[in-house]
Amino acid sequence: MSPVGWDAVVVGGGPAGATAAARLAAAGARVALLERADFPRDKPCGGGLSPKAYHLLDIDVSDLVLARPRVVRLSAPHVGPVVMASRQEAIWMVRRADFDQRLLDEAAGRGVCISTGVPAVGLERSPEGRVVGVITSRGTVRARVVIGADGADSVIARQAGLRTGRETRYVLALEMEGRRPAGAPRDAALIDFGLCRGYAWYFPKGDLCNIGVGTDARAEFRCLRSHLASFVRDHGLEIHPPPRVIGHKIPVWRGIEPLHRANVLLVGDAAGVADPFFGEGIAYAIQTGRFAAEVALRFLDGRVPDLSGYTRLVQKVLGRDLRFWTAVGWVVYRVPSLAVLALSRSRFLQRLADQAISGEKSFSHTWRSRAPGGSSPGRSV
Ligand SMILES: Cc1cc2nc3c(=O)[nH]c(=O)nc-3n(C[C@H](O)[C@H](O)[C@H](O)COP(=O)(O)OP(=O)(O)OC[C@H]3O[C@@H](n4cnc5c(N)ncnc54)[C@H](O)[C@@H]3O)c2cc1C
Repeated sequence: MSPVGWDAVVVGGGPAGATAAARLAAAGARVALLERADFPRDKPCGGGLSPKAYHLLDIDVSDLVLARPRVVRLSAPHVGPVVMASRQEAIWMVRRADFDQRLLDEAAGRGVCISTGVPAVGLERSPEGRVVGVITSRGTVRARVVIGADGADSVIARQAGLRTGRETRYVLALEMEGRRPAGAPRDAALIDFGLCRGYAWYFPKGDLCNIGVGTDARAEFRCLRSHLASFVRDHGLEIHPPPRVIGHKIPVWRGIEPLHRANVLLVGDAAGVADPFFGEGIAYAIQTGRFAAEVALRFLDGRVPDLSGYTRLVQKVLGRDLRFWTAVGWVVYRVPSLAVLALSRSRFLQRLADQAISGEKSFSHTWRSRAPGGSSPGRSV
């Protein structure tokens, strides 16, 4: 690691951190990335990439896609299954270990100095209180900008005094991945709204599948395993041999809050920007990683005096989209059976849902700004 310091240090090598680091380095910044885990690492996740997510990628990951279901069978208490066939693009199903490794390789290829197995434990400050670097078990990594991409339990957010209310709004989700049971659909996903303020899912992944359940209703947290077991039983989805069930928080968006302080920015789950209806987080992690790189580059260049433009950009552009999903959740989770029934009867609603999920229609016009393999920022710091 550079003894003189880096332009930016990124903490966390998931989609948010890898995207921010790769984009900064592509524009000429000197970037270090610290990752606690040894890669490839697994991450509790369904591994579903919506078109919103894969259209934001700077690289081609199509060889990692294990299934592209266009059909989703929806159910709710006493209703369904209702078959929804997407006229838009399919959802891509990937394994997170492979997907995240690919993004990190891209960052390395762009010149990012990556250290795995190195947890960040704190922020180092100057006597005036300014953040000058990240403290790790191997010493301090000094940088002009610190990007916290360290997930739901972000050390950087805590140390920077950001997202102080993070314990108030998150989805708790469990998932398991294993061999696809005989008879389980190969080309269709299942989503069941039979759970208070949440849903259970089945995602096909070729010879594998991912099954999970999540909710933000705290009273349901301790029943999640039994919800998962009932979903598996009711749909004949027993996996042999039974895989390990793993779980994690999904920090869903809870309204406007600062996502930067002085020279520190938060991206992805560290920033709490997953959508509050589906708990989709990968697209939002990539998009905030891109925004962070954009604003950090301007700051490093001296074109802006601070990083406040980042919070404004996220709230202005993603905030509109996230408010839309908050409203959808407010309705659907109050009357899930009625919502699924309405969807089954109305072509208009089906088209709207289809377009919203694919990002084709969004209040923020944030998605589809670049096609896969699209250009990276081409300026130098
Ligand atoms: C069960 C479940 C299912 C989900 N399914 C989907 C889905 O199908 N589709 C979807 O879009 N989203 C899904 N999500 C949400 C999605 O997984 C997250 O929103 C997404 O991974 C966020 O990316 P990130 O880069 O911000 O964080 P992460 O992917 O969590 O990456 C953070 C990285 O930081 C590292 N780290 C943590 N602490 C430190 C530290 N102190 N020092 C250094 N490194 C550190 C971690 O090891 C990790 O590699 C799901 C979430 C869960 C829990």
